[in-house]
Amino acid sequence: MAAFWAEPDFDEHELVQLVHDRASGLTAIIAIHSSHLGPGAGGTRFWHYAEPHLAMRDALRLSRGMSYKNAMAGLPVGGGKAVILAGPDREKTPEMLAAFGDAIDAMGGRYITAEDVGMTEADMVAIAKRTPHVSGLPSQDAGMAGGDPGPFTARGIAMGIKAAVAHKLGRDSMEGVHVAIQGTGSVGGGVARILAAEGARLTLADIDEARASAMAAELGGTSVAPTTVMDVACDVFSPNALGAILDDEGVARINAPIVAGGANNQLARTEHGAKLAERGILYAPDYVINGGGIIAVTLEYLARRSGTPCDVSEVHAKIDEIPRRLEAIWQEADATGISPDRVADAMAQRIIGR
Ligand code: NAD
Repeated sequence: MAAFWAEPDFDEHELVQLVHDRASGLTAIIAIHSSHLGPGAGGTRFWHYAEPHLAMRDALRLSRGMSYKNAMAGLPVGGGKAVILAGPDREKTPEMLAAFGDAIDAMGGRYITAEDVGMTEADMVAIAKRTPHVSGLPSQDAGMAGGDPGPFTARGIAMGIKAAVAHKLGRDSMEGVHVAIQGTGSVGGGVARILAAEGARLTLADIDEARASAMAAELGGTSVAPTTVMDVACDVFSPNALGAILDDEGVARINAPIVAGGANNQLARTEHGAKLAERGILYAPDYVINGGGIIAVTLEYLARRSGTPCDVSEVHAKIDEIPRRLEAIWQEADATGISPDRVADAMAQRIIGR
């Protein structure tokens, strides 16, 4: 037991629940980092871990990350995360999902789940048959919050980019601002469309090169190989594909005064936030700028639970607070010399009473 409390990733988590269901073979971990602001909310990851302690590490780290993300999104929920330990065959059965739904239900609303890596919307619908504590379900009505969070995430990122351009470059319009976008999927593609409509000059890249070039043709931009997008001389580099791209090499390659995009966990290690700052590059902390999706799925969940409908305009209004939060982070970073990622962490800790 002593070893667990000494785990480097253990950060006074309030609850770590191990789940095993012999009949279905389900093995899972549900972690609640903080419920200071409300029930622990965060997605379920379905992953095959080479070692069980890696699953525990993910549950501990990711649930803490959700505490910070939800706090900075101004949501009345805390931080939680679940991991289902997939077998080497990565088999996911209806029985496992049902058992997992029952395990969440037994927590009585202390944990609210959502989709994460390895889980699908259909899996969420299956889990929702066993427990109401599921967010991010398909939208029932047009005009209501719910469904794919990608467009909501993209909206927040586009607004965050505009705030960064105003803060760093003193420009109040995106007209002619050159943005290089890594990843043109749900989020990156959405960001590209919004910024193109505002007159930005786009350079797009995706490992699916046909996807990037088709979008570039449609939006009037150019496309480059995914291996070179980080070297493009531009005003904003916007990572919307992979995490951990800002390592020693990545930070050195950036040829832009601003890094602002939606990919999760962009900094390979915390020191890379300071390295960006040393190079004079303004960084938009990822979990702050990409909060639009979590805002949408959480407001949809809270509306469903309370029986009070939540209009898309309410979701947009909450997302539209993201630039103000980023501005507060950058101002504190400018005033203290502490890098924006550390400033954001400290702000989040204050909000959750740590
Ligand atoms: P997606 O799968 O729709 O799109 C990702 C795109 O990136 C794909 O087109 C893929 O081909 C491309 N890609 C992968 N590796 C690449 C590489 N090395 N170089 C260039 N392109 C590459 O995923 P998404 O929903 O758009 O999410 C993108 C990122 O944003 C992820 O890091 C995700 O965790 C994060 N995020 C997404 C949301 C959301 O609401 N979808 C919310 C918060 C954070």
